[in-house]
Amino acid sequence: MRVHHLDCGSMHPAGGGFVDGSPGRLRFAHMVCHVLLAESDDGLVLVDTGFGVRDLTTPKETLPGPFVALVRPVFDVAQAAVRQVKALGYDPADVRHILLTHLDLDHAGGLADFPDARVHVYGPELRAALSPATGGERQRYRKAHWAHGPKWEVHEGGGGDRWMGLEAVRGLTGLSDDFRLVPLEGHTRGHCGIAVRSDEGWLLHAGDSYFNKAEMAPSPSCPPGLGVFQTLMAVENKARKANQERLRAMLRDHRAEVRTFSAHDAVELAEFTR
Ligand SMILES: [Zn+2]
Repeated sequence: MRVHHLDCGSMHPAGGGFVDGSPGRLRFAHMVCHVLLAESDDGLVLVDTGFGVRDLTTPKETLPGPFVALVRPVFDVAQAAVRQVKALGYDPADVRHILLTHLDLDHAGGLADFPDARVHVYGPELRAALSPATGGERQRYRKAHWAHGPKWEVHEGGGGDRWMGLEAVRGLTGLSDDFRLVPLEGHTRGHCGIAVRSDEGWLLHAGDSYFNKAEMAPSPSCPPGLGVFQTLMAVENKARKANQERLRAMLRDHRAEVRTFSAHDAVELAEFTR
């Protein structure tokens, strides 16, 4: 299965290397919204959507001002998944499935651009997004992103299936077992990784379970600004940290079989696209 790696939302927060880990502090950092477009036997499949057309053209309608001020998205509508699908020569109507790592505003913004797709989501995440319990959850989840009524396909854990030693959910409606949800809670209540079996082996879109490649190294580290940001954004920080440790252990055991990447690390995205 051929898989394209897209950036559906570049962001330039202050903090330079304190945030993205690359040299230089007196510059803006570079982050991306890493999205997959897979050519499956079951039609085109997106993993995450990044920002949508509406976010990128009329952001005041969908994105909170403090978020925009902090992460400084590049408002380039050509980055919207629907525009990139067209630019690759596909019909957006052929996107039959969307798998979401979670429903944060920078991952679910493009849902309305694919109103007929089935949207696969982990049950605890959909419940968190539809019934936000805190001010933080009300900021990060945007009702405008699902006001069109997505065709939700809700999946629950507990089936006992494993993928590379991690608990996983398979048998996603209408999809082969080349796609799995891998629950990695912490960043949000129902955050997941999404495993995809590509032509070049298994990929794990780790969403926001980590933000910088160095966090998955055998001796992990994290740029300090990014570490603070992740702790502040985590709904359950202990679970987030425990799941990072599980991911590192999985990579230790399966490094030859699995390539993983964060939603937001620009260096990891470049490794796939160059
Ligand atoms: Zn994110």
